[in-house]
Amino acid sequence: MKLIELAQIYRARRAIAGRVTRTPLIPALSLSDAQTEVRLKLETTQPTGAFKLRGAVNALANLSVEQRAKGVVCASTGNHGRALAWAAGQLGVQATICLSALVPGNKVEAIRRLGADVRIHGNSQDAAQQLVEELVKQQGMIEIPPFDHADIIAGQGTIGLEILEEWPEVDTLIVGLSGGGLLSGIALAAKAIKPSIRVIGVSPARGAAMAASLDAGKPVDVEELATLADSLGGGIGLHNRYTFAHVRRLMDEYVLLEEIEIARSMRHLYREEQLVAEGAAALGAALLLEPPRRAALAERLGRRVAIIVSGRNVDMDSFTAIVDGTHEVWNTPTVD
Ligand SMILES: *Cc1c(COP(=O)(O)O)cnc(C)c1O
Repeated sequence: MKLIELAQIYRARRAIAGRVTRTPLIPALSLSDAQTEVRLKLETTQPTGAFKLRGAVNALANLSVEQRAKGVVCASTGNHGRALAWAAGQLGVQATICLSALVPGNKVEAIRRLGADVRIHGNSQDAAQQLVEELVKQQGMIEIPPFDHADIIAGQGTIGLEILEEWPEVDTLIVGLSGGGLLSGIALAAKAIKPSIRVIGVSPARGAAMAASLDAGKPVDVEELATLADSLGGGIGLHNRYTFAHVRRLMDEYVLLEEIEIARSMRHLYREEQLVAEGAAALGAALLLEPPRRAALAERLGRRVAIIVSGRNVDMDSFTAIVDGTHEVWNTPTVD
């Protein structure tokens, strides 16, 4: 398979300029030590609270007037739907967002408030995706998928451009991984500009579809399980066109994390960096927080590490329970 090209990512940057925030890259002293300087790329500061806006705005910008008139549709674990609803609203395009019953209420409500037509269907991303396919077939809507699309990957890749411009010395990028649009775009941009850079992917151990697919050598389904990293639920699509090939070629290392590690990281980012990060966004920091994991990685991290803090759209009642230590996750046995 042909990978997307750096030029597409530069084009995406022009397309999204002014609509999407160029996010800060801040030093994180609580995660840095004598060997390694750590900085956080705060996609939490996007207007819709997550990086997904980059891909959604880019994909919409590339639609023709005729396509826009048909309306857009997607399945989403929440953040892509919120981004597409917002971006479509800005352009006066009708958006239909298909969600499974697993998507947290705060995300559903936020999408409704943006004026999108929200459809709740089934208990998995796959079920929500089936509804998308019906709407495309029956009503001619244009599908803007959450990750497996060249314009989405190129949009997310603009994060890589921003990091490399601001911190060209960076050695390693740590990126949360579900469908792989984020990692594909960032890794493509970063390695095209600086081939020596290392890209580490992190996913929750619960329901890690990309991990199972890499092991199998082809896209496979796994059972979707509830996780604190709810934005990372769902498969990569059995007919995956782009992200499986990109991740296989561009990711140097892949780590799966337990729920308790995600919770500790959310608490750490809140208490030590005063950041509200959703579970999916706390994975990168989680990798550096656990001393045995960090020691095992130490040599391969290099001296400068950037972590993508990918979103902040957490249900605040759950968040409060997690940082207070009253959430049920604290009662589950640890893995050490
Ligand atoms: C979607 C999402 C991811 C993962 O992106 P993929 O392109 O699906 O791998 C990570 N963090 C957050 C907050 C997300 O919404």
